[in-house]
Amino acid sequence: MDAVLAVLGLVLPVTCVCCGAPDRACCASCRAGIDARPRRRRLVAGVRLDAAFAYEGPVRVLVLELKLRGRVDLAPVLAPRFGALVAAALADAPGALLVRVPPSRAGARRRGFDPVDLLLRRSRAPLRARARSLTRRRPPRPRGAVGPGAETAGTVGAHGTVGAHGQKGRSALERVEATVGTLRAHGVAGRDVVVVDDVVTTGVTMAEAVRAVRAAGGRVVRCVALAEVPE
Ligand SMILES: [Zn+2]
Repeated sequence: MDAVLAVLGLVLPVTCVCCGAPDRACCASCRAGIDARPRRRRLVAGVRLDAAFAYEGPVRVLVLELKLRGRVDLAPVLAPRFGALVAAALADAPGALLVRVPPSRAGARRRGFDPVDLLLRRSRAPLRARARSLTRRRPPRPRGAVGPGAETAGTVGAHGTVGAHGQKGRSALERVEATVGTLRAHGVAGRDVVVVDDVVTTGVTMAEAVRAVRAAGGRVVRCVALAEVPE
């Protein structure tokens, strides 16, 4: 295999995305370092969330390269540990359904591929075939939202910069309000469910997934993520 890669390297020079060493998309030394990083665990909506990695350092680089630059060749570095956590969750809850958080519409359009789907496909266990997706619906209008022409209502500054679009400009409460009700689960009534997503940041989206499953009569027994942003 190395010989094959060496030959391919002559045709398509590759450097490690983490350290710049020639030869591999992720070099052996960086890969060993990544494999040595601790797993993460926290609670989301009262449910245990297992994350294969903390979203930092070389893991963050790999995830960004995969998700934003379409480096699907990096999936094999990340997928095995994610797949192992999903498989372990399913082993702990025999008969549980695997339900995934869908990518945002904008992300799916931009990328043209689905990172969670790819990771499940590249993991050792045949997990992808079992995964079903929550569906996304248009977010309900936040309470107290005002229509155009009502800028004077609130204490927004002269340039109206408060309330900028996107999660970063929002308070925690605004993020929750904008997310509740955006996901819907189907076919989970009376079933145990393992929820999966790629990156958990605030946990608001994962909590919404848990809410959606519960609202549809399912019981979330565990959440699994590829990476988790340390709080
Ligand atoms: Zn490297």
